[in-house]
Amino acid sequence: MAGGSSAKPWGVFDPTAAAPFKVSRSKIDLFVECPRCAFLDLKYGVKRPSGPSFTLNNAVDELLKREFDALRAKGEPHPLVKAYGIDAVPLKHEKLDEWRDALKRGIAYLHEPTNLLVRGGVDDVWTTRSGKLIIVDYKATSKKVGPSTENDLYDSYKRQMEVYQWLFRKNGFPVSPKGYFVYANGNSDAEAFDAKLEFDIKLIPYDGDDAWIEPLLVRLKAMLLSHEIPAPGTAFGGGPCDFCGYRDAAGKTLMMIHFEQKAKKTAVHQAAAKEPGL
Ligand code: SF4
Repeated sequence: MAGGSSAKPWGVFDPTAAAPFKVSRSKIDLFVECPRCAFLDLKYGVKRPSGPSFTLNNAVDELLKREFDALRAKGEPHPLVKAYGIDAVPLKHEKLDEWRDALKRGIAYLHEPTNLLVRGGVDDVWTTRSGKLIIVDYKATSKKVGPSTENDLYDSYKRQMEVYQWLFRKNGFPVSPKGYFVYANGNSDAEAFDAKLEFDIKLIPYDGDDAWIEPLLVRLKAMLLSHEIPAPGTAFGGGPCDFCGYRDAAGKTLMMIHFEQKAKKTAVHQAAAKEPGL
C-alpha cells in the first residue's frame, strides 16, 4: 500500500531552537529536486507520498552486504573488485555499523555556518592499500540493458555518492574521488522463472565532486528561515512534476467548498438570529 502524506508537527525546523537541525541526505536531494516540496516538508511537516517500499531492492542490498561482510572479516577483496582491477578490500572499522544505519545516526557532520547536522547511511566503504576510503553504493534494477557507465546513472545517485564522500571527508578521512556503484541487474530474459531471479552484477565507477554541497546548505538554511514559498523545482523534465497542478487545483477546490459551506452556515445562523421562530 502506498504510504500516506500528512502534516506532522515534530521534526520540523524551529528557528528559535539552538540545537542543530538534522537534515538527511535524502532531504538535501529533495531540496535540489524541488525547493517548494522541501519547504513544505522541512518547515511544515507535509511530506510527499512515499510510495511502496522496494522490498526486492532491499533484499539485494542485504545479500550484497552479507557477501562483502564475509570478505571483510577475512580481509580479502571481492572477486568482482579484483576482476575490475581495483586494489581495495572492504573496510574494517568499529563505526561501520553506525555509519550504515541511516535510521539511527549514520555518518553525520555538523555544518557550523548553518547549524545543520547532515547525515546519511552509507551502503559500504572499501579501503585502498594506502588507506584511502572508497564510498560504495549498492543498486538493483531489472532492465533489458542494464546500466554500465556513469552516463546511465541518475543524477540523484551521483549526488548521493557526493554527499557521502563529503561526509567522510568532513569526518577527517582521506576519501578517493572515485566511488563505485555495485549494480545488480535482474535478468528477465531467462527461459523460465523457476523461482529464481538471476542478476548480472557490474561495478560502475563515478568521480564525485562535492563542491556544490556547502553552498547548497547555505541556500537550504536561507529557505528554512524565510516565509516566502519557493517556486516548484524544475528537476522534472524542465517543469513542475505531474502532481503539482493536481495538488494546487485540489487544494483550491477544497478551500472553495469549505468557504461556500461556511458562508451558507453563517447565513442560516444570521437568519435564525433575526427570526428566532425559524
Ligand atoms: S513540482 Fe510541485 S508537487 Fe512536484 S515536487 Fe515540486 S512542489 Fe512538489
